[in-house]
Amino acid sequence: MADIYIRNGYLLTMRGNGLGTIEDGALAVERHEIVAVGKTSELDKKYRNSEKVIEAKGKAVLPGFVDAHIHTGHTIIRGEAQDVPEIEWMIKTMGPFGKYIKPEHSIAGGALGVIEGVKSGVTTFGEIGVNEGHVAEKVFVPAGVRANIADTINEIGPNSRPDANKPYIFDEPLGEQKLKAGIDLVEKWDGAGDGRISCIFSPQGADMMSKSLLLRVKEEAVKRKKLCHIHVAQGAREAIQVKLRYGTTSIKYLDSIGYLDDNVIAAHCHQTTDDEVAILAKRGVRYISCPASIALIDGIVPPLALFRQQGGRYAGLGSDQAPGSTGHNMLVGMKIAALLNKVRHRDPTVLPAWEMLRIATIGGANAIGLGDKIGSLEVGKKADIIIMNLKVPHMVPIIYKPVPNIAPNIVYYSRGDEVEDVIVNGSFVVEGGRCVTLDEEEVMERAQRAADEITANAADDFMATDGYLAKAVKKGLL
Ligand SMILES: [Zn+2]
Repeated sequence: MADIYIRNGYLLTMRGNGLGTIEDGALAVERHEIVAVGKTSELDKKYRNSEKVIEAKGKAVLPGFVDAHIHTGHTIIRGEAQDVPEIEWMIKTMGPFGKYIKPEHSIAGGALGVIEGVKSGVTTFGEIGVNEGHVAEKVFVPAGVRANIADTINEIGPNSRPDANKPYIFDEPLGEQKLKAGIDLVEKWDGAGDGRISCIFSPQGADMMSKSLLLRVKEEAVKRKKLCHIHVAQGAREAIQVKLRYGTTSIKYLDSIGYLDDNVIAAHCHQTTDDEVAILAKRGVRYISCPASIALIDGIVPPLALFRQQGGRYAGLGSDQAPGSTGHNMLVGMKIAALLNKVRHRDPTVLPAWEMLRIATIGGANAIGLGDKIGSLEVGKKADIIIMNLKVPHMVPIIYKPVPNIAPNIVYYSRGDEVEDVIVNGSFVVEGGRCVTLDEEEVMERAQRAADEITANAADDFMATDGYLAKAVKKGLL
């Protein structure tokens, strides 16, 4: 007897170096954990009469996806910041909205982003942002999902002169305040929600704070055995700032101050030479790649395959933010990552489907420091499990020999709506394709109201920037 028993499924466990496939597989869950994984014929004897039995014939059973770098609150202005020059993205495009986004708007966006993610199989959100304790309380805990959160620490205030071509003026007292908030978050929220919430630190980036604060954040993190999740080499804006201040590149600067090691989760890393990617790999840095976001914001393919080729140990995938990405659907994200990297390397063998699935599950889990708890279907791990229906026109036929086509079909053909059930920490978050922890209709209505308020206030400011999108709107092209 178990609380949940899944039988006759096609299990992709991620055990070993490949997908760890078990045909006619079964899995049992008791409370928060996986207690048995194996063949249905073997496990039936003990678990056939469990509390809840799921017949998974024609279905794939996988560990939930880890969206290892995400800002869910931004979902509230989805689609408002795409197709613009990188140098304009943060200041002229996101900037005019920021002033009018209130905490409750971000919460509305967060709930929307989480629903979008879980419905396409995301069980863990590697979120960094502002006042994440509040987001945990209002979104992650009630949604029943797992989240690895951090409050962003920087020294950028209202008088920091957001001109990309002059060094920002750092606001030291504000930096102190944010460091304190980061520490408070870890002390108050780590382990909340039956252990679903874990907290780390997030220095925003080498361009956003002084060397001394950057190092102090790391010191505080190391002291508490926590990781530092930082944006690294994230485009021209950062490159200009680091060059102005330190006369070098982000990677060389961070390496010169001893920052790059396995305490660091580095997001993006696309403004890099091949040699710099080799440095990241050699130093044991944990890499999170967000190819859809970086393609849209920078027009660059981040070096995910290269990092792996250079011997990078831990690599995960992130969706980043909805205004400047393709949303929080990791199935779409895997496909984009695979295709872009194949094109970057002019080599269709890089990032095969099995490797993408590993990166989106156990790879991401390891990268954010949760690999001992989640990321694979193994006895003793937390029960974060998704079930995908394979009997849909774009996934049929199911072929086992000579090439099992389930993994390639999931990566290259699925859309997200194949995800039927999502279990996190042993409890259902999505059942039969519906989110059962949050009211989807209510979340969408609340998000629409919030977006209406923000855009009503921000529209004039946005147009006054006369930025790339403002011009396109004026010309009637959009
Ligand atoms: Zn980010």
